[in-house]
Amino acid sequence: MRKPILAGNWKMYKNTQEAKALVEGLASRVGKLSDREVVVCPPFTSLAIAAESMKGSNLKLGAQNMYWEDKGAFTGEIAPGMLRDTGCTYVIIGHSERRQYFGETDATVNKKMKKAFLSGLLPIVCIGETLAERESSETFTVLERQIREGASGLSAEEARKLVVAYEPVWAIGTGKTATPQQAEEAHKFIRQKLAEIYAPAVAEEIRILYGGSVKPENSKELMGQADIDGALVGGASLEPESFSKIVTFDL
Ligand code: PEP
Repeated sequence: MRKPILAGNWKMYKNTQEAKALVEGLASRVGKLSDREVVVCPPFTSLAIAAESMKGSNLKLGAQNMYWEDKGAFTGEIAPGMLRDTGCTYVIIGHSERRQYFGETDATVNKKMKKAFLSGLLPIVCIGETLAERESSETFTVLERQIREGASGLSAEEARKLVVAYEPVWAIGTGKTATPQQAEEAHKFIRQKLAEIYAPAVAEEIRILYGGSVKPENSKELMGQADIDGALVGGASLEPESFSKIVTFDL
C-alpha cells in the first residue's frame, strides 16, 4: 500500500513568526499521525524555524526549489546540501509557477530531480497541462512529455521513491478543481507511463499527488480515487484548521 502524502506549499507566504505559529498549530492537530505523511514546504527563510517547531512530531519538512550544483558562484541559489542541513526531507521541483515565471523546463527539472536523489532529498515533481493545452486536447501529450523528459534516467530504486504531483495549471489558485474523475483519469495515465518507463511494480509504488485548489470541501472525494495518493495544497495549507481538515480524511 502506498502511504499518502499531504504536502503544504506555502509559496511566498509566512515570515518566521507566522511559520512557527502555523507549524505549532499543525503539530498539535496532526503531528502524531503515522499512517500518512504530513509535509510542510515554507519559504527558504522559514525552513529553520519550521524545523525547530516540528521537533517531537511526525511532521516533515520540504523546500520549494533547489539548484543542481553543490556549491559555487550561483548568487541567489540554494544547494541541496543546505536543504538537508536545515532538516528537509522533500523538495518540490518544477512547480508550474517556476516553469511560468522562472524559466524552468523539463531539462532543468530532470537535472534537479537527479541531484535531489544524489543528495538524499526526495523530489516532489510537479507536472500538469495549461487550460489552452486541455482545451486543444493536448493534456496527455503534455503529461507524457513532462514525465518522460522530467523523470528520465532514474534507477528503479530512485524511481520507487519519486513523488509526482499532478497539478493542472488551470486549477492552481483559481478555485477551479479538476473533478475527481478528471483527476483520476490523469493519475491513471501518469502511472501507466511510469510503468512503461520503469516497470509496473515500480509504478505501483510511486505516490502521485493531486494539486489545484484542494480544500476541505473537495478533498475527501479526490483522496478516495484509486490512483490519487495525497495532495499538494497551496492556499488551504496556510491555516492549521483547513490543512488539518484536508489531512484527516479516512483511509
Ligand atoms: C500549489 O501551489 O501547488 C497549489 C496547488 O495551489 P492551490 O492549492 O492554492 O491551488
